[in-house]
Amino acid sequence: MPRVPSLLRRGIALLDVHSHAGVEPLSYLTHGFPFCQNLASSYEENRRVDVTHAVVFPFCTSLYYDLPSLARGIVKLARRIGDAPFHFENEQLLRQLYEIFPGYRRMFIPFAMIDTLRETRGQVRVLDDLLNRYPFYGLKVHPRTTQARLSTLGREGRPLLEFAKAHDLPILVHAAYQGSPDSLSQISDLLALARAHPSLRFCAAHFWGFHQPTFEEIAQYDNVWVDSAAMCIGCDLVLQGSTIYESGQAKIPSNYRDPPKVFADIARRFPDHFMFGTDNPGYSYVSNVAIKPGDQTHRFVLWSTIEREKELLSRVSGALYRKVAFENALRFIEG
Ligand SMILES: [Zn+2]
Repeated sequence: MPRVPSLLRRGIALLDVHSHAGVEPLSYLTHGFPFCQNLASSYEENRRVDVTHAVVFPFCTSLYYDLPSLARGIVKLARRIGDAPFHFENEQLLRQLYEIFPGYRRMFIPFAMIDTLRETRGQVRVLDDLLNRYPFYGLKVHPRTTQARLSTLGREGRPLLEFAKAHDLPILVHAAYQGSPDSLSQISDLLALARAHPSLRFCAAHFWGFHQPTFEEIAQYDNVWVDSAAMCIGCDLVLQGSTIYESGQAKIPSNYRDPPKVFADIARRFPDHFMFGTDNPGYSYVSNVAIKPGDQTHRFVLWSTIEREKELLSRVSGALYRKVAFENALRFIEG
């Protein structure tokens, strides 16, 4: 069991289950934003808004990839930095935390990033080695940016799945609802994995795209959770009528001009599955890449702040607040 050590559990009052630190090569090379975050900045932001704890993982593309290809929005291996996808990024984050900023160990709960399609045995070898040196407590998957359909986790990614089982690591997945143009990150693939592997715990990032039928379906699973990462700009996208999230009839009924109301409505209806997460620093998002490789460039310019994300919790109180603020997240992380 990857029990979070007691030092890390002390004073837990608000846990951000979804944040990033490190460098994002895809975003940097395509003039996107944000393209980096460091633990010191994240620590200060969290303290400013009383986030006491945060799950943190690297960003979503790797220096193991070929950078000129990535600049054109294509994932291809270069194999120059590190011994496997995300080897360098995972080690960098863990060394920052355990060697450079050990004082931050009481706030950050590190997860490792994985590529579910490429050199998955090699990834397990380096993750095994890292886990012997630096504790981490879960895995993160981003099917769209790694250009690896989520279902590959059950096939090419099987060694990583077995690694997660062997160490009882939860898996946080960037997930898209069925109407989204992001066909690589489909929630249906996540639910198929959750059914096939009931001993594994999954979190689908980004509030199931506000898609009500999906929320109703996951309420029946006891090994699937959902986070609120980047929910303020998610509400902005609904108001723009975007298809990135459900903006039509099937969306959770609420007032999307009022994100804290949307958060509270979801929390009340799905109190045991919903968790607070910010996507720090991805609560703002400027992007100039295609959603699918080879497609037309999709431009997004969306802004939020850590203060606006924290405000999401303002209409929730008491026992329900504790569930979405940290209790559900601890069940997801620890089982
Ligand atoms: Zn994220």
